[in-house]
Amino acid sequence: MAEKQQTLVLLKPDALQRDLLGEIIRRFEMKGLKIVGLKFIRLTDEMLDEHYSHLTAKPFFASLKQFMMQTPVVGMVLEGFDAVSEIRKVVGSTNPREADAGTIRADFSMNVPSNLIHASDSPESAVTEVKRFFSDAELFDYEKITDRFIFGEGI
Ligand code: UDP
Ligand code: MG
Repeated sequence: MAEKQQTLVLLKPDALQRDLLGEIIRRFEMKGLKIVGLKFIRLTDEMLDEHYSHLTAKPFFASLKQFMMQTPVVGMVLEGFDAVSEIRKVVGSTNPREADAGTIRADFSMNVPSNLIHASDSPESAVTEVKRFFSDAELFDYEKITDRFIFGEGI
């Protein structure tokens, strides 16, 4: 049986600048992922040190942080069976030119630093990242009439 999961997505400043917020959110909605949290976040230096701690030693770390602070980002928590891996599939691989056609990164972007989206990469990091950016009061549990058609029993 599949596991119901929540996962964190950030729509990066390039998605905002290029008017792709609606298109990206539409793709998540069409896949059947349920939006349980949604807000603007103004990322800080400290938040990014924590969020990208696996990349601190990389030469692009400073420019990555600068990039992420240019505008607010849209933070989303999405829910569904196997949501973490399903979202990574919809998003596509880190390098948009290696991502599969039909994924968001392949369809709308051309280079690694401006690949439009962050999405948690494992169930463990999803739990940590949802907590990092959303309080319990900002997460909403609600029923949609389509839930049983889209989720069924999770098979
Ligand atoms: N990144 C970059 N240059 C690189 C590798 C990564 O600018 O050579 C940026 C890129 O925006 C990427 C983010 O750092 O999305 C986080 O890297 P990660 O390896 O975690 O990729 P992701 O999980 O976003 O696919
Ligand atoms: Mg990552």
